[in-house]
Amino acid sequence: MVSYDVLIVGGGGAGFTAAIYTSRAKLTTLLLEKQTPGGQIALTDMVENYPGFPEGITGLDISKRMEEQAKRYGTEVRYEEVKLIEKQNGGFQVNTAQGSYQMRSIILATGASFRMLGVPGERELTGRGVSYCATCDGAFFKNKEVVVVGGGDSALQEGLFLTRFVNGLSVVHRRGKLRASPILQDRARENPKFRFVWDTVVTRIEGKNKVENVRLKNVRTGEENDLKTGGIFIFIGHVPATEFLKGFVELDEKGYVKTSDKLETSVSGVFAAGEVRAGAVKQLVSACGEGCEAALAAQAYLEQLDLVSKK
Ligand code: NAP
Repeated sequence: MVSYDVLIVGGGGAGFTAAIYTSRAKLTTLLLEKQTPGGQIALTDMVENYPGFPEGITGLDISKRMEEQAKRYGTEVRYEEVKLIEKQNGGFQVNTAQGSYQMRSIILATGASFRMLGVPGERELTGRGVSYCATCDGAFFKNKEVVVVGGGDSALQEGLFLTRFVNGLSVVHRRGKLRASPILQDRARENPKFRFVWDTVVTRIEGKNKVENVRLKNVRTGEENDLKTGGIFIFIGHVPATEFLKGFVELDEKGYVKTSDKLETSVSGVFAAGEVRAGAVKQLVSACGEGCEAALAAQAYLEQLDLVSKK
């Protein structure tokens, strides 16, 4: 079985930053990512708040650059999904569908995936007008009217991206006040393609082979009505990607990984960084900062292990 000093699970900002640091510290590093490099950032059109890029940088571009940087210092990157992690011989055995690896320490950086609305029609019509990624699917909605659900940064940022294609969009938000940052709120309010439907939830998504209609309910008055639409984009937050960690490390009630202030989990030698971590600020720059911190903590842990074994 192949053995490494550090396993990093997840190839987003936190994972790749951790990999850059552990590789540069000459620790043998394997990074396992189940989909594409960059995680959520790769699905973002433009990153405008990462320092050093005054004109912004596309999510895809910064993701590729982070991967390239980690590989340059020796990180091995494999596209495999981790199924199980178990303690073994003072280290950890990690199983994926493709194989097994032996690790001395682990950094969990799996981030989170989009939350579903959980209404009738959503699952059936996903990919047929229901989308969770404007950057991926926006171009399919040229000259259409669409619905965007949510009132956070994602809803407005992705909505602004959609205005390149669509005729108009209705932001359906369950409250009367947006959660998004003021700069995005200003841009959305100034854009003539935006309309806001306040205090309203989507209760049903309808259509024969593709989305044609959404059923809306005003949460204040209880009034229901139909809105004809060519598509619905859902941005209502995230759920942590920690299913495979249940029973291995301690999670909070929402499923995020609990850590100490040194980013160590309930299992010695296992660290967590970025959005998957309970209490993390959900920004690329802070995910990268946590990736660095977790890498330094893993390095200190391994140095301590080596000292003890030499005694
Ligand atoms: P978020 O900030 O958690 O916002 C989710 C939105 O969806 C909220 O407005 C929430 O309503 C609404 N919502 C949640 N559950 C719902 C449900 N079941 N039905 C209807 N509406 C529901 O999520 P996000 O916008 O994806 O952002 C996640 C994090 O990433 C945030 O920290 C954000 O700042 C960050 N982010 C930053 C940028 C940027 O810096 N440009 C871009 C994207 C994301 P309530 O407001 O009523 O709770």
